[in-house]
Amino acid sequence: MTDTVIDYGAEQAGVEEKVEALLGQMTLEEKVGQMVQISIDGPGREKAEARIRAGQVGSVLNTYGAAEINHLQRLAVEESRLGIPLLIGNDVIHGYRTIFPIPLAESCTWDPDLVEEAARIAAEEATADGTHWIFAPMVDVCRDPRWGRIAEGAGEDPTLGAAMARARARGLQAGDLASGRRAVACPKHYVAYGAAEGGRDYNTVDISERTLRDVYLPPFQSAFRAGAGSVMSSFNEIAGVPASANALILDQILRRELGFPGIVVSDWNAIAELLNHGLAADRAEAARLAALAGVDMDMVSDCYHCHLADLVRQGTVPEEVVDRSVRRILRLKLMLGLFEQPDVDEAAAAAAILRPEYRDKALEIAQKSAVLLKNEGDLLPLGPEVRHVALFGPLADDAYNVLGCWHRIGRAEDAESLLDGLRAVLPPEVRLVHVPGCDLEGGEAAEMERAVLAARDADVAIVAVGEAESMSGEAHSRAHLGLPGMQQALVEAVQATGTPTVVVLMSGRPLVVPWLAEHVPAILQAWHGGIRAGRAVAEILTGAAEPGGRLTAGWPRAEGQIPIHYAHKNTGRPADLLGPVVTDTVNTSTYIDESYEPLWPFGYGLGYTRLEYSDLAVETPRLGLGDTLAVSVTVRNVGHRAGDEVVQLYVRDLVGSVSRPVKELKAFRRISLAADESRRVRLEVPVQQLGFHGPDLAYVVEPGAFRLWVGPNAAEGLEETFEVVA
Ligand code: BGC
Repeated sequence: MTDTVIDYGAEQAGVEEKVEALLGQMTLEEKVGQMVQISIDGPGREKAEARIRAGQVGSVLNTYGAAEINHLQRLAVEESRLGIPLLIGNDVIHGYRTIFPIPLAESCTWDPDLVEEAARIAAEEATADGTHWIFAPMVDVCRDPRWGRIAEGAGEDPTLGAAMARARARGLQAGDLASGRRAVACPKHYVAYGAAEGGRDYNTVDISERTLRDVYLPPFQSAFRAGAGSVMSSFNEIAGVPASANALILDQILRRELGFPGIVVSDWNAIAELLNHGLAADRAEAARLAALAGVDMDMVSDCYHCHLADLVRQGTVPEEVVDRSVRRILRLKLMLGLFEQPDVDEAAAAAAILRPEYRDKALEIAQKSAVLLKNEGDLLPLGPEVRHVALFGPLADDAYNVLGCWHRIGRAEDAESLLDGLRAVLPPEVRLVHVPGCDLEGGEAAEMERAVLAARDADVAIVAVGEAESMSGEAHSRAHLGLPGMQQALVEAVQATGTPTVVVLMSGRPLVVPWLAEHVPAILQAWHGGIRAGRAVAEILTGAAEPGGRLTAGWPRAEGQIPIHYAHKNTGRPADLLGPVVTDTVNTSTYIDESYEPLWPFGYGLGYTRLEYSDLAVETPRLGLGDTLAVSVTVRNVGHRAGDEVVQLYVRDLVGSVSRPVKELKAFRRISLAADESRRVRLEVPVQQLGFHGPDLAYVVEPGAFRLWVGPNAAEGLEETFEVVA
């Protein structure tokens, strides 16, 4: 915990004194009040306001707008006995009013600095409008695209996830809580929420403690190290114990091992849901379990409000448990400077949103996150010979669904559709025809026929298909990951005209589209790209911008392959027969009716230029446990255009005291190369980052032989070896 901002050092001494002075004046009910978070709609406005005045509320969530927030804050500060200000919490997942691409898309930039800038802009807008507590970053590793919340995270990998978690936490939360922007980040959902069985939201998670520590915890640790001052306990159970009552994860790991000093808030109603999990017989027991496990604040369930004071009086929850939580909450409020300045400047709030430079950043990120999946015969970018473009698909002129899930106060009127984008970038002499062809989930044969007729006359057909924003995100898991409704039929009909066809996919998750991969010459994955999505895609299609994104979650060929991820184990009978011993060439870990490989692997994405890797050199072939692995490689742009590349370094620990994944990402760097430019790229990995949780669950780096690959994705790359010695 090196650079944590919740620092109890000398300069914070005043804060501690104030915390103790306040705590000393508080009744038990007022203490419990600080541990209660409500949404105004919950109890209803009148009751909610009465509770704030009575000192029974520590935080309000899902309330937007400076005027409304100032009003609530005045009730707390001017009308409650102790005048303790409220913490105002909101979900700011990929932008506040300036909506950026969904987080899964942002992660495809492989550019943490850029992602940090987006998070900072989101926090600038949100804090100017009164929010102090941002329920983000969502840092759940996810290896199952059926889970709708894959859209909110950074994909399947703990190393990339940790880099993005750090970037987002740094962007959302200013380095010094008391100065400048007043926001505290809340990495969520702690923990392993992304491992829901069957990809069904809220479902059971039953993973080993090793997997928990090796795969699901690293992004949280990274966000904590970056200073995140709070964390949200998740809805799911982990091996039988729901997170919000789980002492292993909330006490042992979070407090004792990681030394996390911030606030734990439960997810929405998660304390009451301990009844549904079958862990608590009633709400009082649920409150007791959550408080004893270490949940500082109850998000909306009111179990604390109704029962915690009684539990203390009965002696089943020690008052010290309550005091500890209240100290953490007061400390955060003091460090945010809320006592000195509880309100925000309403006049300044409007000027803080949608600034031109924010819109420019949204455009840049939308461009850099789009992934070119296929480009047969260099159909893209469209050349000067293209004089007649036909645009189809239900998402072609859609400025709403591009906002993606969790866009909250984002508005379609702020956004550009692909049609808007093409109108802006195509030269006036190019004819642009637009026929939707079908709806997202329905349509009529006559409309499809109109599309076919229009496609016949065009030089190129662009079909924008995919998902509505409501098809991913919370509680929006899907069992079928193909194109909904008639969209697949539309693509097939357009493609059958013989007009060269480009498919633009807009979705909140990897889709299962094997037919498209086989038959359509060019496919661009544009995700739900935010307010500048349309312009970004138009610029990519016409070559004004490069498609620079790389996948951060592998794409399955069939739903039956899920979960599919590159960092799998080799097994005793590997599908690719790559192991020192071949026991059987028939009975291997494969499917009899589908390939075992993904359609497109983790890390994959094309550009408009061609790159070559050569001269991989391991500068440090023998390393001690305290050393740093240093590797260099030459990347050459052999094409005629400038382009970006994400140079990726993977390792495999060949023999371990527990089995190790066949590959693990350990370092990466996004670079830009001019045409013909060649660059030596150096990547470093401290040997201490090559470890895992061993047989006794302690973190260990084991001496021995390693293989490494440096290349453009998890399936390709130049190969070398190195050795770690004791
Ligand atoms: C979600 C959280 C969110 C919370 C508050 C819950 O349903 O799981 O991610 O922060 O609601 O809106």
